[in-house]
Amino acid sequence: MSDGIIRALAYDGQVRVSAVICTDAVETARSCHDAFPTAIAALGRTMASTLLLSWGLKGEGHITLRIFGDGPLGGIIVTGDAQGNVKGYVQEPQTHLPLNSRGKLDVGGAIGNGDLYISKDIGLKEPYTGSVPLVTGEIGDDVASYLMTSEQTPSVVSVGVLVNPDYTVAAAGGIILQAMPNCDEEVLDDLEAKLQGVRPVSTLIHEGADIEDIIQNYLPGVEVQFLERNPVQWHCNCSRERISGLLKSIGVNELEDMIERDGETEVTCHFCSTRYHFDKAELEELLAGMKEDLAQL
Ligand SMILES: [Zn+2]
Repeated sequence: MSDGIIRALAYDGQVRVSAVICTDAVETARSCHDAFPTAIAALGRTMASTLLLSWGLKGEGHITLRIFGDGPLGGIIVTGDAQGNVKGYVQEPQTHLPLNSRGKLDVGGAIGNGDLYISKDIGLKEPYTGSVPLVTGEIGDDVASYLMTSEQTPSVVSVGVLVNPDYTVAAAGGIILQAMPNCDEEVLDDLEAKLQGVRPVSTLIHEGADIEDIIQNYLPGVEVQFLERNPVQWHCNCSRERISGLLKSIGVNELEDMIERDGETEVTCHFCSTRYHFDKAELEELLAGMKEDLAQL
């Protein structure tokens, strides 16, 4: 099934539902970072979570999830925007651990103990940032804990990535169900009963489920009001221009040293691994531009 996200309401608007399929986006992330199964499962679950939490973003708004644990994976950073673009980075992509006791990729073990940070920039002056200690490091539970602690919203978050024997991504996606403030106790009880024994989202996607099917599978017999369906995709907004800006930000002296010492430089984008090479003439041009800017101050 092709990548996309659906926003919906259930139980007469008492529960907000969002489901995403992002198999292609996570596969692109895997190939950009040459990531091993445990690492891509962690990054892919974070990507799915980011997309699910992007509800309500508009225009230039974006959301960033950061996970810093003491496990072998190091940190994970994922950013998503209102257009369904997502990009992500994992510090040690060649991390792979033996399967855990439930026979699953050991994402919690690879992440270890640490914290989850979420910042949401909705176009206000300062982006809002909150954090919670990781509960299990399995990401879905951690995001749910964040939503309960920071936003007082009881939520169920299920995100998953299925990896093929050749390490490519077979399926990736997730679902979030959030109780709105007006939610009745009976609805919560019904929801809890329905969630017993649901199958992993990645399994459903691998079997060919579309996004609507995932929601129906989680909420059998419940009337669902589908609000919108939008595409999601891997997209890195790095460019030669942005990297030039980065080089300028190191300062005149450092840039002069770099030209003197190396005569060239190469900058690699953390997110998509694109390499930007600058030869001596290009660096000198940047330097001249900086000096010109300074002279005008
Ligand atoms: Zn990039």
